[in-house]
Amino acid sequence: MSSDAGADVDILIVGAGVTGIYQLYLAREAGYSVQLVEQGSGVGGTWYWNRYPGSRYDSESYTYGYFFSEELFKEWEWSEHFAGQPENERYFNRVVDKFDLRRLIRFNTTVTSAVWDETSGTWRVTAQDGYTARARYLVAATGVLSVPFYPNVPGRESFRGEAYHTGLWPDAEVDFTGKRVAVIGTGSSGVQVIPIVAPVASSVTVYQRTPNWVTPLHNRPITPQEQAELKADFEKIRDTVGKSPSGFLHQHSDKSTFEDSPEERQAFYERVWQLGGFGKIISNYRDMTLNPAANAEWSRFVAGKIRAVVKDPATAEKLIPKDHGYAGKRPPYGTGYFEAYNRPNVSLVDLNETPITAVTETGIETAAGLQEFDIIVWATGFDFGTGALRRLGVVGRDGLPLKDYWADGPLTYLGIMTHGFPNFFFPGGPHGAAGNNPRYNGDQSDFVAELLDFAREHGHRVIEAPKALEVEWTAMVNDAAITMSPFNEQSYFFGANIPGKAKAFLLNSLGRPKLLQMMEIAVKSDYAGFFPGPDGAPGPDGAEAQGISK
Ligand SMILES: Cc1cc2nc3c(=O)[nH]c(=O)nc-3n(C[C@H](O)[C@H](O)[C@H](O)COP(=O)(O)OP(=O)(O)OC[C@H]3O[C@@H](n4cnc5c(N)ncnc54)[C@H](O)[C@@H]3O)c2cc1C
Repeated sequence: MSSDAGADVDILIVGAGVTGIYQLYLAREAGYSVQLVEQGSGVGGTWYWNRYPGSRYDSESYTYGYFFSEELFKEWEWSEHFAGQPENERYFNRVVDKFDLRRLIRFNTTVTSAVWDETSGTWRVTAQDGYTARARYLVAATGVLSVPFYPNVPGRESFRGEAYHTGLWPDAEVDFTGKRVAVIGTGSSGVQVIPIVAPVASSVTVYQRTPNWVTPLHNRPITPQEQAELKADFEKIRDTVGKSPSGFLHQHSDKSTFEDSPEERQAFYERVWQLGGFGKIISNYRDMTLNPAANAEWSRFVAGKIRAVVKDPATAEKLIPKDHGYAGKRPPYGTGYFEAYNRPNVSLVDLNETPITAVTETGIETAAGLQEFDIIVWATGFDFGTGALRRLGVVGRDGLPLKDYWADGPLTYLGIMTHGFPNFFFPGGPHGAAGNNPRYNGDQSDFVAELLDFAREHGHRVIEAPKALEVEWTAMVNDAAITMSPFNEQSYFFGANIPGKAKAFLLNSLGRPKLLQMMEIAVKSDYAGFFPGPDGAPGPDGAEAQGISK
């Protein structure tokens, strides 16, 4: 689609990542008129934007992809257990072509405003290039890690060498050969970039604010025998990830840390260490993330592993987190990450000791002086959770902007809807996921699709999350974040990486079982409270109707 001045559709979806593509498929299958708009020029979302060297899944490839089509699952052969960005992007292109979805997508379309029109009961949507649309339902599948963040460093724009943000990486090869490279940031993206660049660059200087608990990803090719097993086990895999509390295949352990003797514990930790990716959390002792003593025990084990790899003891100490335990922040999974620091051309700058004072035309200045570079890689993360939604220009009932309604943090019902913004859904948004994202996001998209079908069947044209349910879910998420989760309040999970951002929990701290349970309650109650009266008056109190305590 190119110069369409005014689309008029049942459903407008924003964002062509794993969530938006699935929602588009569901909408088209259900017979709605639907269009998807995407600011990039291709599909894949995260896997379109994050093209940096080393970018790859931390979820097992076959658990990240879709399960709605057995044929797709069986015909697409992932090359590795944790596939890399080019392959991941190819997968999403294959999906939209196989299911003939591309013609429903308008690329290079950045939505800047979406205003609820009470009279017509529709959303008026505008994009930067002048595109406009009217839609009964607006689905913002705009992602939680889709707004790259740069720290406010004086002179950042003045650098005359090459500079890249990992989340806005160009679609052209960046040649690091023989270059002096700075990598700022040691979160998941920095951890993936550093070991790839180190062997070819003349030098790599890593600027670290917070060390992270990096453990091995244990990636490897999928053997022909494993390919055959994956295909044969399609239903079993689909059912396991469909029911898993975290959306992974990893088995949950029912043992607690101190049930085992120190020797048994050591042996258990060694086995867990060998598991791929998130297995180190999910298959660990069940109290590892809940009991501070248990968490400290595992963290000590990981610290020992770091000390065993990094040859310079002073560097090793700087690389071991001291301000949070394992999983207190999003733990990166690495391949040769700590080993990279043993190379003579890799050095570490601790920003707590020597903060960056400025970026100059030629390099980076700290209290220790100026260091010159050819390339600066900003691996400085994202405005997590609410970044994209707050920038979408959403204005709900009575002219209330979403960014104002959420000034103190997001208020959501199941991380999908917010009161006062009728016919507006944001699967994959804040309060939604905390595990293998596509599985949670898929649950949310299914919920939206079923809710729209119910409304169509029963002649409801306006759907709105009952206030009481929004209050309930938001309070439960916030309470559990403080009382039950291991998350560190200085992490991006609380928005702490963005200066001035309200401190509020942005993940789903309640887990997937609670999400699914709440969805089931809503469905069983025939979505009590979701359909305001004809005059726009709110529906009955949903919490009461659904038998949920307030
Ligand atoms: C490097 C990286 C690796 C990750 N690895 C994993 C992993 O292994 N496992 C896991 O579970 N999660 C992972 N994640 C989290 C990841 O964000 C989710 O898995 C998933 O991609 C979210 O999909 P989504 O469709 O909801 O959002 P996204 O993939 O972020 O897609 C959102 C899309 O919306 C578009 N958009 C946003 N605003 C607008 C606008 N105003 N107008 C038009 N378009 C707009 C964006 O351009 C983007 O394409 C990773 C994230 C990153 C950054």
